[in-house]
Amino acid sequence: MENNNGVKRYQMYIGGQFIDPHDDSYIESVNPASGELWALIPKGEKEDVDRAFQAARQCFESDEWRGISPTQRGKLLRKLAQAIADQAEHLARMETQDNGKLYREMLAQMKIIPAWYEYFAGLADKVEGSVIPLDRQSVFNYTLREPLGVIACITPWNSPLLLATWKMAPALAAGNTIVLKPSEFTSASSLEFAKIFDEVGFPPGTLNVVTGYGHTVGDLISKHPMASKVAFTGGTETGRKVAMNAASHLASVTLELGGKSPNIVFADADLDAAEAGVIAGIFAASGQTCIAGSRLFVESSIADRFITRLANRAKEIRLGDPMQPDTQMGPAATPGQLKKIEEYVDIAKNEGARVLVGGERPSHPELANGLYYYPTILTDVNNSMRICQEEVFGPVLSVIPFDSEEEVVKMANDTEFGLGAGIWTNDLKRSHRMARVLEAGTVWINTYRASAPNSPFGGYKNSGIGRESGLEAIYDFMQTKSVWVELSDEIRDPFSIRT
Ligand code: NDP
Repeated sequence: MENNNGVKRYQMYIGGQFIDPHDDSYIESVNPASGELWALIPKGEKEDVDRAFQAARQCFESDEWRGISPTQRGKLLRKLAQAIADQAEHLARMETQDNGKLYREMLAQMKIIPAWYEYFAGLADKVEGSVIPLDRQSVFNYTLREPLGVIACITPWNSPLLLATWKMAPALAAGNTIVLKPSEFTSASSLEFAKIFDEVGFPPGTLNVVTGYGHTVGDLISKHPMASKVAFTGGTETGRKVAMNAASHLASVTLELGGKSPNIVFADADLDAAEAGVIAGIFAASGQTCIAGSRLFVESSIADRFITRLANRAKEIRLGDPMQPDTQMGPAATPGQLKKIEEYVDIAKNEGARVLVGGERPSHPELANGLYYYPTILTDVNNSMRICQEEVFGPVLSVIPFDSEEEVVKMANDTEFGLGAGIWTNDLKRSHRMARVLEAGTVWINTYRASAPNSPFGGYKNSGIGRESGLEAIYDFMQTKSVWVELSDEIRDPFSIRT
C-alpha cells in the first residue's frame, strides 16, 4: 500500500498476496463527513475475480487447509479474534472514515467482532455426523458433514466488517475458503482486515478480497461457477439479482436484505425505555441499518404525549464529526444515500405527511461539507403510503397511532419485509402473544437493536433467506454425506433397489 499526500492506495488480497488490480485502475473513497478523498480502492475486473476463485479453490483442495483438523481451524480462528481485538481502534477509524458512522459505534462493533470468531472457533470441532438406525441391520450407515467449497461473500457499506464476519466466521469454521467483495464505498476496512488475516497463519487463498463495483465484481462473483454458495447482505433488489446469478450454477444462497421494521409502543410501557429504544431504532447510525425501526406504532391514548417527547429528544440530537465522542449522529454514507433520503421525505410530503421535526439538511457552516440530514419525524402518515412501505435507509421515522392489538399487528405485518420488530409493553402475556404473530426474523421485547454470535439473525418474507449467527449458521456452510457400509457377505440381486 502506498501513501501519497495522505491518500492511501490499496491493493487486493488474492492467494495470500497483496496485488494491484489487473487493469491498474482505482475507485476513489471519500470521507462523507468532510468530503475529502482519503483512499484509492482497486477496481477489480473479471481477471481478478477468476484469479481469486482459482486461489480459493486451490486452497480448498490443498492438504494445508483440507488436511487440518476442525480443532486446528478453531485455534486459527481464535488467533484471528485476538488479532482483530488488538487492532480494533485502527479498524474502527477506517470504517468511520469510509461510511461516516460514529467512531464509538464502529469501535463497539470492532470490539464485539472477535466474539463471533471465538463462538464459531468453539463450534468448529463440535459439528458431528450421526449414525442412522437403518432397518437393514447388516448395513452401517452414517453421515459426514463436509464444507461446501468456495463461499462468495458480498457485503454492504453500513457495517462492512461486522457483516463480513457474520459470513466468514461460520464459513471458515466449517472448512470453506472465501472470496469477499465489500462495497465499493467501504472497502478499506476489509483490505486492512486482510493484512491482519495474512499474519495469523491461514494457508494462502483461504481468504481473498476482490474490490470493485457491484455491477461488475459483485455480479461476476455471484455467478462464478466456482462459487459453491453466495452469502449476501444488501438491498432486496440486489439480493434478487444475486439469487438469480447463484441459481445459474445452482449455488445455495444466504440473503440478508432490507427491512421496514415496526416499533410498537403500548400505553402501559415504560416510556423512558421505549423512548430510548425508538430513538436507538431509527436515529442510531443515522438510520442506516437494516433493522431500523422506521415505522413507529404508538397506542392512541399516549400518542400525543409520546410523540412530543420524541420530537423534543430528536431536536437535541447532536450532528457532527463522527470521530468526536459527543457526536450522536454522523452524515449519510454516500451522496446517493443522502439524495434518496431527501427524495423519500419529499414523496412523503406529497402524499400528505407532516414534517414534525427535521425534514431538511442542516445549514450550519461546520456541517456544510458533509452529507448530513436532520433526524426526521413524520406524522399524518398511514401504513399504505410509500414512506411506510419502502426502505429509506436514513433517519426518517413515520408515526402511526393505533387503538387495538389486532389493528397494530395487521399494520405491522402489512409490508413486504420481515426483518425485525420491537414491542414495548409491561404486559407479559401480550408481549409473547405479539412475538408469535409478528412476521419478523427477530422480535425484541422492551429492547431493540441487539445481537449476539449465538442468536440467529435473518429475515422473513422479502427480508431474506437463511440465518446468520447461532448454531444453524455453521450448518448452512456445510453439506451432508451419507455413507453406507455393507457388513454382511450377502450377494445382492443386481436388478432391484436396496434399502
Ligand atoms: P446494495 O444491495 O446496493 O449493495 C450490497 C452489496 O452488493 C455491495 O457490495 C454492492 O457493491 C453489491 N452489489 C451491487 N450490485 C450488485 C450486483 N448486480 N450483483 C452483485 N452484487 C452487487 O446495498 P447497499 O450497499 O446500498 O446497502 C444497503 C442495503 O443493505 C439496505 O437495503 C439494507 O437494508 C441492507 N442491509 C441488510 C442487512 C441484513 O442483515 N438484513 C444488514 C445491513 C444492510 P457496491 O456497493 O460496490 O455497488
